[in-house]
Amino acid sequence: MNCLICNTEAQRIKTMGDWVEQDCPACGRFRVSGALFADMKTNRQAFNVEKARSWLDKQRAENRAENQDDHSPLIDSPDSGLVLD
Ligand SMILES: [Zn+2]
Repeated sequence: MNCLICNTEAQRIKTMGDWVEQDCPACGRFRVSGALFADMKTNRQAFNVEKARSWLDKQRAENRAENQDDHSPLIDSPDSGLVLD
């Protein structure tokens, strides 16, 4: 499955949660909520690669600060400016 953000070949991580989790060599590891994933497919939307990556970096820094770096950042909102129309 290609990376939902940058479309390069990425690994899909199997999880029990309601999200798609991927490990991309360029974007790192992240999750996209099932609802957002379905919305984006329906509307043929794509992520803004630059914005999505910098958002993920910020989330990871926050997770590290809270000693939660085992949690991959979850993208669950289309209105965070990460999704192109
Ligand atoms: Zn990627």
